[in-house]
Amino acid sequence: MRSWPNTYLPAIDGLKLPALNLKTSRGNSNFEELSDIRMYVCGITPYDATHLGHAATYLTFDLISRYLQAQGKHLSFVENITDIDDPLLERAIREKMDWRELAADQVDLYRSDMTALRILPPKDFVAVTDVMPLVENAITRLQENGYTYQIDGDIYFDISTFLSDLPTSREKALEIFAERGGDPLRIGKRDALDPLLWMANKEGEPGWESAHGFGRPGWHIECSVIALRYLIGPEVLTSKFRASGSSLITIQGGGSDLIFPHHFMSAAQAKALTGTPFAQSFIHAGMVGLDGEKMSKSKGNLVFVSKLLLSGVDPMIIRFALMQSRYSDDRMWSDDVLATASTRVARIRQALARELVQPVEPHLEAIARHLSNDLDTPEALKVLDLWAEETLATYEGVNESGLMARTVDALLGLAL
Ligand code: ZN
Repeated sequence: MRSWPNTYLPAIDGLKLPALNLKTSRGNSNFEELSDIRMYVCGITPYDATHLGHAATYLTFDLISRYLQAQGKHLSFVENITDIDDPLLERAIREKMDWRELAADQVDLYRSDMTALRILPPKDFVAVTDVMPLVENAITRLQENGYTYQIDGDIYFDISTFLSDLPTSREKALEIFAERGGDPLRIGKRDALDPLLWMANKEGEPGWESAHGFGRPGWHIECSVIALRYLIGPEVLTSKFRASGSSLITIQGGGSDLIFPHHFMSAAQAKALTGTPFAQSFIHAGMVGLDGEKMSKSKGNLVFVSKLLLSGVDPMIIRFALMQSRYSDDRMWSDDVLATASTRVARIRQALARELVQPVEPHLEAIARHLSNDLDTPEALKVLDLWAEETLATYEGVNESGLMARTVDALLGLAL
């Protein structure tokens, strides 16, 4: 699927970047030895693009991409679009729309929001409906490897060998599994937590012909397959494949609501396919609430990037506002958060417009240091404020505002 336009990434010379140290949900984040980074980020289900929770998630991986590329590393970044899934079909029925049309509209909106926010695009932006033969082959391989069983034409993945690795208690896992698309109560399952690989067609739903019957794939297998195929190559889904390292990809990313079951299941399925652990690091962005409440579809309080943009909010102020909190923290959005960001950005722009500014190097070093410390954007932005205040307090200084602007653009994605 067409990605969105690439964003200009200024080169930054002479700034020493400390090793990026990220707190992972699982695995380690020592990337210093690696020259090639393979990053997979779970994309949206295109039925409610793009709310601020989405924006905060994709901003997180954009900051990681920017930092690693500024260190001179080669980054391969792949993102999917779950363009066939229950919530999409449900909304299409509710709105009396063709599900394909709804998905196409929402993907368009997503692309324009990502472009406005200056999120670096993935090299491959892959729709699930474009990779059905790959999903079909992967399920065949899982069958050959002994990981599947059937109930009334539905194919399940046998999770038993991976259960010792659950990221939460079994009781909690069962509860979350039911909330996030799982069917723990289905009669005939070997384990209540086994996820669906392939669903036999239900009347009125879209389906695809396959060796596993007419139907559609389960959620988790889509991401295992897209990540492996586009970050490693077609050979990964054959019996000849042998992994070269101790994990298949470097980073698996997404919102913290994907830790379980989605990332746990996709990783288990990737390992069952290849015999090798899936990702070196699992990194998750926190959730965004509104005015003290959880932001959710069911509460009807989602704040959409496109609506903010339409009302005239500068996308760089949205980006700045999201960076006022640390990526991994759950945070609240409010008009005040946006107003504060707007005031701060105005001061920084005023300083950048000056011919003579305060020396930028110590400030840039501090920004890099804060980013390397688990992407501490709140502290990095405070350094920018400080530099702006020092600059605006005098008419003396050095001719370095261009260097400041370019580096802030490269590392923080703020074109000010
Ligand atoms: Zn995914």
